[in-house]
Amino acid sequence: MSVSAPLIVRLLASSVSVAGRAGKIVRDVMSKGELGIVEKGKDDYQTEADRSAEKCIVASLSKQYPKASIIGEEDSSVEEGEVSPDWIVVDADKEVLGLECPASLKGVKEEDIVVWVDPLDGTSEYTQGFLEHVTVLIGISVNEKPVAGVIHQPFFKNQTGGEVKMGRTIWGLSEIGVGGFTPAPPPGSLIITTTRSHSNPVVEKALQVMNAAQILRVGGAGYKVLQLLEGKASVYVFASPGCKKWDTCAPEAVLSAAGGKLTDILGNFYKYGASAPKPNKTGVLAAVNDELHSYALNRIPQELKDTLANK
Ligand code: AMP
Ligand code: MG
Ligand code: MG
Repeated sequence: MSVSAPLIVRLLASSVSVAGRAGKIVRDVMSKGELGIVEKGKDDYQTEADRSAEKCIVASLSKQYPKASIIGEEDSSVEEGEVSPDWIVVDADKEVLGLECPASLKGVKEEDIVVWVDPLDGTSEYTQGFLEHVTVLIGISVNEKPVAGVIHQPFFKNQTGGEVKMGRTIWGLSEIGVGGFTPAPPPGSLIITTTRSHSNPVVEKALQVMNAAQILRVGGAGYKVLQLLEGKASVYVFASPGCKKWDTCAPEAVLSAAGGKLTDILGNFYKYGASAPKPNKTGVLAAVNDELHSYALNRIPQELKDTLANK
């Protein structure tokens, strides 16, 4: 690995590589067919794939970046020797390693970094066979702000010639841009993307007021942001406290690097410091550009905003 690349660029390149390995773990658990489902809370599940993919990511990144704070959804304490050497990834994606580092991030030190890891976003969909919705999320924040991120889609079918390669990895770096896919302009009419498995009356109310041409109901914060980036939808609305920091850190970093915006339902940015509260209590509102974000924000009644703010 090039030791001369700036820290943020190296960490992003390492995250791209390890996300691909975690994605293989997610596929392997599915093909073995023993998911080992545990119910963590109401409508909140964990499988063997969530647990193992997190161990792979946390062990690999903490070995290389020991002073960074790494916070994973499944709270894996990684004991020395517990993680199979086959899960420790220390190489770094060559293309990402060659990226320019934005001037504002050149002086960042390891201890300034908080990495939010969702080893498997869209667990409900994973257990129900909606495999395209599943992503592996690694979000890198500095001074409480998401500055770089990876969204890996383990079950995406990459067709090159006659060969199908499973998985693709999308990355974003603040001020530099995005890669790993072909961005597309937003659809001509207002298409909203929202939850498939965590709706409730408040979530539905926030959708009704949008005057949308179409509402797509899919799993995962990562997959919904991919739909924004690929021109399948233009706004993501989720008026519920259900998402956590590991769900939105990487998607926010990638979306903002592509010119989009992700905030809560009140229009405020979340903060991603190490001691930040995990739940995104005031929901998620994301759009492909500022104009659509403002449109959606203005459509949400104050009463609904107050309901979430006072929960
Ligand atoms: P969804 O859009 O429902 O797929 O949710 C996006 C992310 O937020 C997933 O990681 C979900 O597990 C999480 N999430 C959303 N709502 C809830 C909830 N009510 N309980 C637990 N997790 C949730
Ligand atoms: Mg998640
Ligand atoms: Mg998860």
